[in-house]
Amino acid sequence: MSLAPFEFEGVSVRPGQRAVVEMPAAHLYTRTALSIPVHIVHGRRPGPVLLVCAAIHGDELNGVEVIRRLLTLGGLKRMHGTLVAVPVVNVFGFIHKSRYLPDRRDLNRCFPGSETGSLGARMAHLLKSRILDRATHAIDLHTGAIHRSNLPQIRANLDSPDTAAMARAFGVPVVINSVLREGTLREVAEAQNIPVITYEAGEALRFDETSIRVGVRGVVAVMRDLGMLTRRRQPEPMVQPAVANSSSWVRAEDDGVFRPLVALGARVRPGQLLGRISSPFGTDERDVIAPYSGILIGRNNLPLVNEGDALFHVARFDEVKDVAAQVEAFSQSIESEPPVAEDEAPILA
Ligand SMILES: [Zn+2]
Repeated sequence: MSLAPFEFEGVSVRPGQRAVVEMPAAHLYTRTALSIPVHIVHGRRPGPVLLVCAAIHGDELNGVEVIRRLLTLGGLKRMHGTLVAVPVVNVFGFIHKSRYLPDRRDLNRCFPGSETGSLGARMAHLLKSRILDRATHAIDLHTGAIHRSNLPQIRANLDSPDTAAMARAFGVPVVINSVLREGTLREVAEAQNIPVITYEAGEALRFDETSIRVGVRGVVAVMRDLGMLTRRRQPEPMVQPAVANSSSWVRAEDDGVFRPLVALGARVRPGQLLGRISSPFGTDERDVIAPYSGILIGRNNLPLVNEGDALFHVARFDEVKDVAAQVEAFSQSIESEPPVAEDEAPILA
């Protein structure tokens, strides 16, 4: 029996073929139609239906580039199953270089949404009913918020065995076992027993080559693990991800000009100096001190801070030393290895 075509929005994608389908999403107030481009790669053989999506926060761009590179890979010709890739979920935010929707809602707090609710609820409902509900697995690509960068990391609910397997397969050294925030795509997917992981890396409105490379490599590794792509003959050097069960932000205790003194991925110890806040004109300085030990997984990059601003995101691990060594070895291997896609010129910092 031959595999059925993948039907989507009136387009029939036959096995072994691919298509870009413009899914009508909304209108601008100029009445210009706004659509979400959905890339469908339908394999010749049956397998999982993997949703890979980015820019659900419209200003988070690394994932857009991850998907562009993913779609150039030659191995997709021999893929099992179906890849549904949505490079820009929040098209409104993308146009405005903004995280949010025009009604200032966060689309990733609007799921599952409804047909008659707010703009955010309607967009969420559309995405859920047309795309997410068709998927057997999902990977949601994010970056830090504006002026904040994240160490490449996976966030997932590790209580679900299939989700935990995806998180491991992605192959980054740091996995945050995180609670499911209400209204997120991740929460709704898990509620429907669709294994789902979130990849977080880099900063909003910026491209970061390492974050992009790690992202492409990770999605490919998950696709191999799910049997969608053929496994390499020699097993890849597997990173044993360390799982953090908690993390929190060290906040500014003063207003002023902020100088960070530790890099992402660094091991921090209680009492360690992480940064300084001073007045722009004088010498009065206030130290920012690490309250506990952990790994720096997120950092504020904006020098202008107010009291209470989040400065350093520190994740707690049982064996901090081992994680720090893993992170260090991993970032070196990423920098030295060739890009996953051949002929892909790196974006330079
Ligand atoms: Zn995000």
